[in-house]
Amino acid sequence: MDLGIRGKRALVCASSKGLGRGCAEALAAAGVDLVMNARGAEALDRAAREIRAAHGVAVTPVAGDITTEDGRAQVLEAAADVDILVTNAGGPPPGVWSDWDREDFIRALDANMLAPIALMTVLLPGMMERGWGRVVNITSQSVKAPIPQLGLSNAARTGLTGYVAGTARQVAEAGVTINNLLPGIHATDRADALDQGVAEREGITLEEARARREASIPARRYGTAEEFGAACAFLCSVHAGFVVGQNLLLDGGGTNFTI
Ligand code: NAP
Repeated sequence: MDLGIRGKRALVCASSKGLGRGCAEALAAAGVDLVMNARGAEALDRAAREIRAAHGVAVTPVAGDITTEDGRAQVLEAAADVDILVTNAGGPPPGVWSDWDREDFIRALDANMLAPIALMTVLLPGMMERGWGRVVNITSQSVKAPIPQLGLSNAARTGLTGYVAGTARQVAEAGVTINNLLPGIHATDRADALDQGVAEREGITLEEARARREASIPARRYGTAEEFGAACAFLCSVHAGFVVGQNLLLDGGGTNFTI
């Protein structure tokens, strides 16, 4: 399917690896020029080179922490007039409700709620003026079904989800859509790190920890960054103009509910 977005420009945040990289790759395959971002310049430059070589699109890497005002200012200098925004950043650490104080919540809100909102606040007006735009926020399955030890993430991401639910309906008349993609378990560095933690705690191998988690997913496997990126590219395509304010769960059936 031709996604109809060849020649558009996209900012894909936190995209040197993992799900963000999957989104960058899929948009590039559809002919979209990219501004890519991550904190580590080396991996980011490598990813930018690889995507440029594979897809022949223009790729501008901007290293910086997207959860800080300085980082965002640098990124926005290169991405002021993009047609497509994919927001993403690392997730807050796990823990127990009684451990978290105000500062922990402020950090989580800054990273996973207020950073995407700040980017939308800057980029939505240009998209609306031009009469076309797409925003996809990478959130988590925990928005639909909370993961108890990820209380900081549950709180910040549901806050973003509430903001999107209202805002998406305010900008839709200008041809701009905002939607969220909710990853379940995907095979990325983050999933490896979580499995490694389980392996160490329980005295089992990484492979055993992973096999145990895969068995708990109806699809009996982890998702891939490629599948995730394809869903993102579809939401950014001309064909998804009537998809407004939705939360698309990509979890291999792991979240058990009817609707
Ligand atoms: P990942 O494989 O660890 O990749 C994270 C990417 O984001 C890297 O490119 C990293 O590069 C960049 N990054 C992290 N923090 C950043 C920041 N503050 N500013 C700019 N770039 C940043 O992670 P992932 O699995 O793709 O996860 C992406 C998001 O989805 C996370 O919020 C995660 O919590 C959420 N999620 C993932 C899963 C899963 O199974 N993978 C499931 C549910 C939710 P640098 O480190 O160089 O900055």
